[in-house]
Amino acid sequence: MNIVVMKFGGTSVGSAESIRDVAHIVDLRKGFKRIVVVSALAGVTNSLFEIAAAAKGHNLGRAEQILEALEKRHADTATELGIEAPQVMAAIHEILENVHKLARGVDLLGELSPRTMDEIASAGERMSSILVASFLRCPLLDARTVMKTDSHFGSARPKMPAIKKAAALQLEPLLQSGDLIVTQGYIGSDDAGDTTTLGRGGSDFSAGILGAAVGVSEIEIWTDVEGILTADPRIVPSARTVEILSYDEAAELASYGAKVLHPATVRPALDAGIPVTIRSTFKPDGKHSTISPGQSSGRPCVAIAMRRNVAIVSITQETMTEQAGFLARLFDVFGRRGISVDLVSTSEISVSVSLDAGAPLDALGQDLAKLGTVSIAKDRAVIAVVGDLLRKTPEVLKTSFDAIDHIPVDLISMGANAVNLSFIVQEKDAERVVRNLHEAFFEKSENA
Ligand code: ADP
Ligand code: ASP
Ligand code: MG
Repeated sequence: MNIVVMKFGGTSVGSAESIRDVAHIVDLRKGFKRIVVVSALAGVTNSLFEIAAAAKGHNLGRAEQILEALEKRHADTATELGIEAPQVMAAIHEILENVHKLARGVDLLGELSPRTMDEIASAGERMSSILVASFLRCPLLDARTVMKTDSHFGSARPKMPAIKKAAALQLEPLLQSGDLIVTQGYIGSDDAGDTTTLGRGGSDFSAGILGAAVGVSEIEIWTDVEGILTADPRIVPSARTVEILSYDEAAELASYGAKVLHPATVRPALDAGIPVTIRSTFKPDGKHSTISPGQSSGRPCVAIAMRRNVAIVSITQETMTEQAGFLARLFDVFGRRGISVDLVSTSEISVSVSLDAGAPLDALGQDLAKLGTVSIAKDRAVIAVVGDLLRKTPEVLKTSFDAIDHIPVDLISMGANAVNLSFIVQEKDAERVVRNLHEAFFEKSENA
């Protein structure tokens, strides 16, 4: 069987018009068996988080207002698509009614557990998939019957052997009897049968996992831009499509902020040797990116990525060099709090680490104060220059340093892997750094 996974993101299913575009694209792959993975309609997952937060803050009125707007948006989309059958409307209503019940519970208790949050957050994909499957007139598979995960609500980890087994039982028979199925991205279920989610932006990851589990010939990520670009086009409007990337380059760009791809997506695809392409729903014949086995951009810098909301924690201890095991004690503090550190830089008497600014920084600061003098810098961003030939091209350093001349840099790391050179700067300077680097690498000369 020649099977493809086609994942459509929030903007791609964001309106009746774009769902029509989706149908057209799905039709273009007629010769294949197709697993269509959909995100929630653009903005809906954010609204669901807002409902949960409003309920927790005892503002049930606000939660109900958003619920009403969500029901209207889905119903209007169904009407515009001509699929306003009573069972479609009832299914949407039932999902939102369940969210309403959960919101009332959260309001009553003033408590929002990660488990309840995932149940609420799953509503977006459950509703969008109903619309898309009805419009495409094909079976709808509840992803929770296949996407088996641990119980790490909010960022659940897939259990690949269980997923493969479930896919063989639930998904493959549907593909034997038909050419097309629709399922949800982002959501799964744990051993107890409770709904889990793979983390924000996780529908790409779902596509990677399902593609690997079934052994498809390609995983297609359909989004609102023509593939992975040389920088975020919202920051650099002249950014252009990177046509070929390695798995390493794509994973590195994704984990350093290139939102176009969830960072975990490429791992299952790489393990299974399946190519991943990233394409535009709005320009299906336009350019696209391909990530496939044995391929590389062959460039010192393939693209620039940027992630905001970073903090730097520095610990200074005059006698650090005389204290064996200092670093072990230091990292133990992070480990015990379950905080993962990103970049690390050490000097004679101090250590700086960067981490997500959402970590419990005050508590961490108190723990670390036992080891030395602590300072915490917030409002930082990390910018990464990524390319397979980066290490082999010393000029990359000069080009980068020249480009960010006069901008204060807090931390520099030539990644432990060979494909990444990253800088941490103040958030207010970050866009300028991205633009300067883009200009140096892509506009002045063809790479360093
Ligand atoms: P979807 O809803 O389809 O999953 P996302 O909003 O998650 O789409 O990701 C697409 C967005 O990622 C683009 O609109 C773009 O603004 C942003 N983006 C950030 N960095 C890059 C990059 N290097 N290349 C392409 N898009 C990028
Ligand atoms: N709907 C989810 C989110 O907004 C998952 C996704 O779109 O990938 O995070
Ligand atoms: Mg996304």
